[in-house]
Parts: sequence; structure tokens; C-alpha cells
Amino acid sequence: MEEAQVFLVGAGPGDPGLMTLRGKELVEQADVLVYDRLVAPEIIGWVRPECEMIYVGKTPDHHTFKQDEINAILVEKAEPGKKVVRLKGGDPFVFGRGGEEAEELHAHNIPFEVVPGISSSIAAPAYAGIPVTHRKMASSFQVITGHEDPTKLMSALNWEQLAEFKGTLVFLMGMKNLPFIAEVLMAYSKPADTPVAVVEHGTWQNQRVITGTLETIALNVMEAGFTNPAVIVVGEVVTLHDQLKWFTPKPLAGKTVGITRARHQSSVLRDKLEALGATVEEFPVLVLRDPDDTTLLKQAAAQPGTFDWVVFTSANGVKMFFKELAAQENIDLNPFGKARVIAVGPATAKALEKRGVKSVLTPDSFQAEGVADILKRMLESDQRVLLVRAQEARTVVQDMVNTIGAELVDVPAYKTVLREDFKDALNEALREGKLDALTFASSSAARNTLTLVDGNKELLTSVKLFSIGPLTTQTMEELGIAPTATAVSSTIDGLVGAVANNLGGLE
Ligand code: SAH
Repeated sequence: MEEAQVFLVGAGPGDPGLMTLRGKELVEQADVLVYDRLVAPEIIGWVRPECEMIYVGKTPDHHTFKQDEINAILVEKAEPGKKVVRLKGGDPFVFGRGGEEAEELHAHNIPFEVVPGISSSIAAPAYAGIPVTHRKMASSFQVITGHEDPTKLMSALNWEQLAEFKGTLVFLMGMKNLPFIAEVLMAYSKPADTPVAVVEHGTWQNQRVITGTLETIALNVMEAGFTNPAVIVVGEVVTLHDQLKWFTPKPLAGKTVGITRARHQSSVLRDKLEALGATVEEFPVLVLRDPDDTTLLKQAAAQPGTFDWVVFTSANGVKMFFKELAAQENIDLNPFGKARVIAVGPATAKALEKRGVKSVLTPDSFQAEGVADILKRMLESDQRVLLVRAQEARTVVQDMVNTIGAELVDVPAYKTVLREDFKDALNEALREGKLDALTFASSSAARNTLTLVDGNKELLTSVKLFSIGPLTTQTMEELGIAPTATAVSSTIDGLVGAVANNLGGLE
């Protein structure tokens, strides 16, 4: 048998994991890769560096390659001993015009091989939890082009038969004609309440599914703004979607998010963004240091059980205070004795709980104002308060303690300073448009970042900026780098939510 020169390879519906082993092997070996729009970038990335890449999909100026042009490319590139891989979305012979390409190769006596792919016609429904056949609901399915205008007189399709068909109908390329398809099926007496699903970007990380009936689907799809590529599934099996939907897409797939937190605090944010599919780049713009003067910290850590109230305004404060505690000779398992302990927010409370401190109070709003509110309600004038805080901090809590007339031991436990070793990486990432977003979990992170770009606000605002809460947002607005969105709750989860909603198109 003659060795094949051209390989018509199905790339599957999108998710690179759904490509065949043979297909992958051929992409990796290809001398020439001829590919189009619906092929995942990851798959394209499997080629050897010296492989010649020929894109024959729609170009930004909307030139569409004619099938003749593509055929000519395949014939021209084919050569004995060379592998020309023609990579197509889904299966090459299911509406892929692979048949025409094979005919052309045959006409030129060019040996070829066909590598089937998983067609979107079954994979997109499967990823929406819709089995195209089901023992009780559909004993067959049809895959139909929706490209045909069903209202035209000489349709290649028999719409009357399609309307009467008892199995599942799967339309590809049908988004533009969806309203007509639904109408014609109903006109030929397919019940108006027949269930319909549209699966957009099936198996991709931005897959969306919408359901309805023949009567409602066109409007639903218009309102939700669904576009190509999408398959339309008509039939009773669609009712299984609610129960069987199993695939959770990752809305931040393909997005690169920069985080500006200090390294020791970045991992939770990184993990949560990555879990949603984002690529994360870290630019630690600040670093935690001892305060200028550690006398007060050392004194407080030597007698932690002498207070009625202990207030922590950040997880950093907890970390630094316990570092000092650990240096003491007699460490008490319950260092604060009978004192009530207040943490500004959940991350600070968690840092305390991790170190064995129980029953930590947190305010409703995770800010110094919330802490002051608690003290206003509960602090007595004859009590002692230990405040563990950043060296540079607002005086909201101190003011409240002083107003009540209680005794305050005010301890700067750390400072954060500008970290400059990521300056070049940050500037380069911004200049080269590598980032989709940059997150700020504190005012100082925002200030330092602006310093690191030498005050170039336009460079910073060329990406979407996200803030953890109202204080950081206020600082950013004052600096002239207002964020695109602010977390609803001043927490890392809230920050991740703001990024996902905005960048992931979930809003
Ligand atoms: N050969 C391909 C089909 C090519 S025709 C296959 O077997 O899947 C192009 C049409 O396929 C699109 O208009 C759309 O209807 C469908 N399609 C391709 N990829 C899709 C995907 N990931 N999700 C939903 N529909 C898809």
C-alpha cells in the first residue's frame, strides 16, 4: 500500500482531550498543518516548530477560503515522504467537506488517510447531559444541516419528514435559521411544546446551554445572545438535561489574571482563580517586614493574657504576633486567656483559628469601621485593649477606644514595603498585552503597582482592574486607576467572584 501523504484528521469538538490518539500523533509529526477556526489552540500547539502552518478559516477581514482554494493547497503541498495534515473540527466527514477534499486527492492520485473525530453533533449534546438516543425516548437520531433556508421552495431537505420523525433531530450550522427551523417544524405539525436545547461552544470551557420548546427557543436564544458554533437538539431527550448535566465549564479558561499580593498570601487567590480555569501570573509588589520599632510588639507578646480585648486587623498581624509569641519562653496554649478576640474579617479569623484561638468575633463589614462598631457596643471604659495592626494604618479603632476611654496598647506588628524585583516582568506583561486582568487585595498593593509602572496610569488601565473592597477601590480612584469591578464582600472569594463575573462573561 502506498504511504499516505495527506491526512484528513478530525480534531474533535473542542476539548483537546477528545481528540484521537492517531490524530494527536499526526499533528505532532506534521510537516504542513492546514487547519480552520473550530480547532483548539492547544491542539495547534502540538506541532513541531518547523511545521508549516496554513490557516484556512475565516480571517478577521471576513475572507472565507473557498473549498476550491483549500483543495488546491492540499494538492500543492502533497509530496511523497511529507505529511500534510488537514485538521478539521469534529469529524472530517460530518459536514466538514472532507468528502470533497478526499475526492480531489483521489482525482490527483494522492494517497490519503482519514482519521475520524468525535463529532460535535453527539459530543455537544453529551456535554450538556443529553443522550441523543434513549431506550424510552428516541431510538434514532438525525444530524441535519441548518444552513438550508427551510422557507426556500427547493429545499434539499424534506421538512415534512423531519417534522414527523420520532427520533432526535440535531441541527448543525443552524443558528441563523433557528427561528425558521422551529417555525417550519411546527407548521408541519411537530408539537409546539417539543423540547429543544441549544449547546453553544460544546465541550469548550465557555460552553453554554439553553433549553426551551419549538415555540420559545428562538426568543430564549436571542435573549441570551447565543451565537455560533452551536448545535440545536430537538426531541424528548432534551428533558434529561436538567438531571444529567454534569459538565461544569471553567469561565476563566483562556484568561490570564495577574495578582499583586505578597507571595506568602497569594496561594489561596491563585488556587481559586486556577480552579476557574485562569492562568495566573504573580507580581508580588509588596513584602512583609518587621515594624521599624519592635519594642511594643515584644512587650505585648510577653504578656498576652493581660487584656480584655485583643484586636487583629489583618492576617499579617496574626502571623507576626504569633511569630513573636513563639519566641517567648513560656508559651501558653491559650495565650489571650479570657480576652475576647476580634478579627477584621474571615481570613484574619481563619489565621487565628489555625493557631488555636477559638470564638473569634468578626464584624459584618470586614473593615476597621466594623471592628469599631463592635467595640462601641461592648467595650467598657475600665478595660484594656490590645490592637495588633500594620505600621501604617488608619486610626479608626484607636479613635473608638479613646472615645470610650478604655486603655489602649497600640502595637504596630509589621509593615509592608515595596518589592521591586518583579518590576520588569510586570511592565513587560502589561506592555505586551499578556494580561486580561490585575487584582488588588489592598490599597498598598494598588499604590505599589502604580509605583512599579512609574506612574503610567494608561498602561495599568489597559487591562481590567479588580479591587477587593471599598477601601482599596477608594484608594484606586484617588490614584486615577479606578477598578472595573469591586468585590461584593471584602474577601478573596469576593474578589475571585468579581473577576469571574466580569471576565468570564457570566454577567
Ligand atoms: N465536522 C464538524 C461539523 C462542522 S460544521 C463536526 O463533526 O462537529 C460546523 C458546525 O458544527 C457549527 O456550525 C456548529 O453547528 C457545529 N459545531 C462545531 N463545533 C461545535 C461545538 N464545539 N459546539 C457546538 N457546535 C459545534
